[in-house]
Amino acid sequence: MRLASDLWHGLLDLLYPGRCAGCGVLYQGMLCDECRACLQPIRAVACERCGAPLVGAEPPPGGCSACRNPRAFAGLRGAFLYGGPMREAIRALKFRGRIAAARTLASLLVWAVVNADSERLSLRRIPFRKVDLVCPVPLHPRRLRARGFNQAALLAKPLASHLRATFDEGLLMRVRDTRPQPGLTARDRERNMAGAFTATEGLHPIAGATVLVVDDVATTGATMSQCAAALLGAGALRVWAVALARGVHLPDEEEPRHSSAARTTGTRRAV
Ligand SMILES: [Zn+2]
Ligand SMILES: [Zn+2]
Repeated sequence: MRLASDLWHGLLDLLYPGRCAGCGVLYQGMLCDECRACLQPIRAVACERCGAPLVGAEPPPGGCSACRNPRAFAGLRGAFLYGGPMREAIRALKFRGRIAAARTLASLLVWAVVNADSERLSLRRIPFRKVDLVCPVPLHPRRLRARGFNQAALLAKPLASHLRATFDEGLLMRVRDTRPQPGLTARDRERNMAGAFTATEGLHPIAGATVLVVDDVATTGATMSQCAAALLGAGALRVWAVALARGVHLPDEEEPRHSSAARTTGTRRAV
């Protein structure tokens, strides 16, 4: 289903480049006003550690199931709920080669960081001002060659320059070519990502640094945790993690229809 939709949208992108990456309507720009109004900034979290969006009124009884696995990051937060036009725009970037979508998505991430306090977004928990180094979750070199770019790096670089922190794309390396995570259970995600990354000190010293790891999508936090573990192993003082979009990982892999984590609010004025 999803593949067919990607092929169809990819064909439309080729034939009619002036289309909204979120819904496909003719639009001179990347995300139309309606799609922007559908974006869901995350405000309430069910888990202080991994920032899982709050689904329903109460945090899950017994605590966050993802954080029963050791989590190496000091905290993970997502800017927007992964779904609807946000998911479509990220897929347009990653799988349909609409690289221009990266600029729009990066500006949405920067918007969320700038407005974290005033909009009461959950990512205000991250002490962005203390960040020394910003790095993306790396792709395996084989996947990087196939795609031609790392979408996480296209988001991390503008964020680093906004924070006036040092951007270092080479800080982390993916040493194992892992299976794609969608469709995997939480336990399989942990196994899949174990030992997937190493931190390599290149131009910038990791020892004693506060590092921010950036990804396009996070779900259980397994990937971010493995990145943080590699950086801590290389001497980082603390590792925070931010994702442009945060998926809700439910046992049945279905998306919630309602979420108190996010109100549907427009972000038109901000981006
Ligand atoms: Zn649209
Ligand atoms: Zn958690």
